[in-house]
Amino acid sequence: MAAYTPMMQQYLTVKADYQDAFLFFRLGDFYEMFFDDAIKASQELEITLTSRGGGLEEKIPMCGVPYHSAANYIEQLISKGYKVAICEQMEDPKQTKGMVKREVVQLITPGTLMEGKGLTDKENNYIASITAFEDQTFAVAYNDISTGESKVTLLSSNFDDVLNELAVLGAKEVVVASSFDGELQKKMRERDVLAISFEDNSSIEMQFAHLLEELNQEKLKQAAARLFNYLYRSQKRSLDHLQPVTTYQIHQFMKIDYYSKRNLELTETIRSKGKKGSLLWLLDETITAMGGRMLKHWIDRPLIDQNEIEHRHNLVDVFMNHFFERQELREKLKEVYDLERLAGRVAFGNVNARDLVQLKRSLMQVPFLKQILLSMQNEEMNGIAEHLDPCEEVTDLLEQAIVENPPLSLKEGNIICDGYNEQLDQYRDASRNGKTWIAQLEREEREKTGIKSLKIGYNRVFGYYIEVTRANLHLLEEGRYERKQTLTNAERFITPELKEKEALILQAEEKIGELEYDLFAEIREIVKEYIPRLQALAKTVSELDVLQCFAQVSENRRYVKPQFSNERRVMIKDGRHPVVEKVLNSQEYVPNDCIMDPDREILLITGPNMSGKSTFMRQIALTSVLAQIGCYVPATEAVLPIFDQVFTRIGAADDLISGQSTFMVEMLEAKNAIANATQNSLILFDEIGRGTSTYDGMALAQAIIEYIHNRIGAKTLFSTHYHELTVLEEELSKLKNIHVSAIEHNGKVVFLHKIKEGPADKSYGIHVAQLAELPKELIDRANEILTALEQPGVGVEIIPAVKEDKTATAAEEQKSTEQPAAQLSFFDEPKEVKKAELSSKEKKVLEKIRELDLLDITPLQAINMLYELQKKV
Ligand code: ADP
Repeated sequence: MAAYTPMMQQYLTVKADYQDAFLFFRLGDFYEMFFDDAIKASQELEITLTSRGGGLEEKIPMCGVPYHSAANYIEQLISKGYKVAICEQMEDPKQTKGMVKREVVQLITPGTLMEGKGLTDKENNYIASITAFEDQTFAVAYNDISTGESKVTLLSSNFDDVLNELAVLGAKEVVVASSFDGELQKKMRERDVLAISFEDNSSIEMQFAHLLEELNQEKLKQAAARLFNYLYRSQKRSLDHLQPVTTYQIHQFMKIDYYSKRNLELTETIRSKGKKGSLLWLLDETITAMGGRMLKHWIDRPLIDQNEIEHRHNLVDVFMNHFFERQELREKLKEVYDLERLAGRVAFGNVNARDLVQLKRSLMQVPFLKQILLSMQNEEMNGIAEHLDPCEEVTDLLEQAIVENPPLSLKEGNIICDGYNEQLDQYRDASRNGKTWIAQLEREEREKTGIKSLKIGYNRVFGYYIEVTRANLHLLEEGRYERKQTLTNAERFITPELKEKEALILQAEEKIGELEYDLFAEIREIVKEYIPRLQALAKTVSELDVLQCFAQVSENRRYVKPQFSNERRVMIKDGRHPVVEKVLNSQEYVPNDCIMDPDREILLITGPNMSGKSTFMRQIALTSVLAQIGCYVPATEAVLPIFDQVFTRIGAADDLISGQSTFMVEMLEAKNAIANATQNSLILFDEIGRGTSTYDGMALAQAIIEYIHNRIGAKTLFSTHYHELTVLEEELSKLKNIHVSAIEHNGKVVFLHKIKEGPADKSYGIHVAQLAELPKELIDRANEILTALEQPGVGVEIIPAVKEDKTATAAEEQKSTEQPAAQLSFFDEPKEVKKAELSSKEKKVLEKIRELDLLDITPLQAINMLYELQKKV
């Protein structure tokens, strides 16, 4: 170390504390990076890598970014999951002898962004902390530093619950103790957590103790304290906008696990991972950014308390019945800026004068909002109106203090209104008088000298001057003017009296700048006092925004208010899939009914591919989610139970490529549902068992259905292409067959997308194949096989394969009557039609399968069994 230059020593000392971050080390107008930081940053940011001497023989790798464009580079690094430590010069180099003092002033991380492109208006940027306890429980705390909101909850030993919470929050950064289980860290990274940070201090420090007062459990306090310790340590500044931490429990909300949330495309689509095409996209008629965030929050956490849900429905109802008031409210909301984030910036100290003008304009809308709500003459709306706090003191202060169009910079003056501060007015007078005086002087000098082109100007280097063109120099009175500067065509002069005024003016202007800055800081401090009130206001406005949004969407899309049934009854009349309907445009969408009650718990849905099975299933789930977030639903009438959880196993297109891993995911999702569902849950299983071969797939499907029917009693929609399963209706009293109808028209299949009672009567696979223009010969042959299979008594046999002239094998000739029939649909494993010779091993395996008592094994045992069997073949 000693061999390095003093500056490199200073660098290395600072860097030692920020091993896991890029250290942006301020040198003059640049932030420089050295050693490995430089090499990595030059690659990530595509900037030139250079080197410099540092005391040793070997040169030190170095790269740098200009300080004024650093924000851009920092964001690039943050979006890739890196952290950046900003190390500033703490002294003016010009006034310091020797080494300038340098300190890290802020650690910027993916979870602590305060501004810039990384922050999306309508999304929160959450950072979470997880604390693991000896009794296997986990506490999860989270915070959005840009809005100041924090919450904490206690979860059971199941780490999946923790992962689910992280997914709901979309947390980009998670803070844990350095001893936190490495395997679990890995799992978090697999779920889109960009950065994991460490904080071992979980004790409650003075500066935030007051924020934890509402928490009544030690574990909760610890988790929140760990998070706050990390925030204070990394941000190194006032975090006065942090709101008191509140606690919540996940079972206060409808539980939708990670997979199901994805499958249902609640807030983003599976394919593009973007908002477009999701339920959030369909619903987002919010006007304000805060409302947008609240809407996402509501979709992520549907309610299960009937009173709370109906409270929202009632307010939506009022908005539906007051079209004009609603439109007026929407107009006013357009003038309301992001109060939450403005409050955050006030506390953080990076608020500028324009932000404060936005704050004022927003607050000025509040009395109008109030008036609109009151005009609807509804008790609940009146209640909300009363809650709207216009924070008049802040409006008045800002109105008196800050000019209407202030500059971005806080250092150039022109921020504070005339009349706000006496001292400032005096300085301004001095400066303005001085300028008037100069204008007067210019007129006088022109008259005196007779030079019409004489002018008085100003520049930074020479100050005020009198400029006379070369041709007119002879007109000047000797000795009165002192030469200052010579230009090609003119000379510039000063006079003693001009110099005197100049000093006065400049002094005044400097003072104006300083005083305005001080006054601004003072105003900011006053506004800071109002942060909790501003945050409360923000919350009410966001809720209003979401409720009007529900009314707007419900009206435009003809949704109805759902009723809730205490008898676990589903009665949806003319239901529609909200997103598909919007994409298709309403006329084309075929509405469908869905009836379920305690005698109809499981609906087994058959029908050809592409007929609309999974659309129907999702439609039921989305309808329930819409109802439970407080929105109306796409139907002409709807009675629904309140579901505690929704589980889905819905194949995405990529699942069609069957493979071990996809099948495993399928089974894991099935397990998750079966282990956690109650009779108040909703389960959607689409084509379960498809990821494996026909026999065990069908066996598993049946066993799963029976298990749900006999043990769980959850409302279940189960689509399958195993036509064989439809006989279950005879044995399972609460299972009913339904199908999606299709008709044949001129030998082609036409999907009607209409749900009907009973099983589908025919497989349309061949027609679909025909539509796909497979060779005619092949289609004819498939029809032939199908006809043969449909002969009475032949149903379960394999049809002898067509022999190719020369190469027919013995195996192909062998006819078997031992095996149950394969699924008849064209797409499924055409190989099954061709019978292969069985090895003795394979025969044993088949024997084993035949012996299985499907009614008596769990899915997990089935997987294990399959695994064993697969090893044998
Ligand atoms: P399946 O699950 O039976 O293979 P999907 O549910 O994926 O079929 O539906 C296939 C396509 O049919 C969807 O992309 C959708 O555009 C259309 N569709 C489904 N249901 C309806 C409906 N009720 N009305 C109109 N079109 C529908």
